[in-house]
Formats: sequence, C-alpha cells, structure tokens
Amino acid sequence: MIKPRKKKTESQKLRDECDDLMREIIRKVSGNICRRCGKYHERIEWAHFIPRKYLKVRWERDNCAPLCGGCHQYLDNFSMEKDEFFYGLIGTARAFELNRIARSTSYKVDKEQIKHDLEEKLKLLEA
Ligand SMILES: [Zn+2]
Repeated sequence: MIKPRKKKTESQKLRDECDDLMREIIRKVSGNICRRCGKYHERIEWAHFIPRKYLKVRWERDNCAPLCGGCHQYLDNFSMEKDEFFYGLIGTARAFELNRIARSTSYKVDKEQIKHDLEEKLKLLEA
C-alpha cells in the first residue's frame, strides 16, 4: 500500500521555497557550467560543501558550487577530494568559518529573512 504523503509544515514549505530560489541563483550565476569539469550541462546541480542538514549554511553562497551530476557524485563519494575542491574555491579560512557557523547554537535560522534575501539576489541577477 502506498502511504499518503505527510503534509508539509509551514517551515518545510519555506525551506523548499528557499531551496528553489537558491537553485535558480546557482544556475543563473554559473551559466550551467560545472565548476569542477568546466563543461556546459543542461542540468546543473546545487552541491554543498557542508551538508544541507546544517541549515545555518544551507543557503550560504560559499557553501555551494554548481556541479554536473557526475562531478557532484564523485565529490560526495570522495570526501578528501571534496574538501580540496572547496578549499580551492573559498580558501581554508572561510571553510573553517563556515564549519563554525554551521555548528553554532547561538542563534536560530530565520528562513523568512533568508527567503527575502534570496529573492533580492535573484532580482538583481534578472535585472
Ligand atoms: Zn562536472
């Protein structure tokens, strides 16, 4: 029997909206060029350095890279190569800072604010 899908909470809906905005930003900024192999791909993925479950850095630009499916899978399977790739993009100091922010317990993520900021960024890109 197929289980009925659980209804999403408002917070989950907001998270999904932020994800959609961020994906759109990543595609626009990258021009569908994979940051690792440098090739054009019809489908470009929104890859993370620190995993998405760490909400405080989920939508941080420096925590993301546009990757093709193959490069994304490769880096997710080889964590040392993934670290090296992101250190090359953002530098080790920023990488360690993101790590610290990701694990911070001193504040809560304001998804409404994040959504607003992402909408503004997207507007600028579309202007
Ligand atoms: Zn690639």
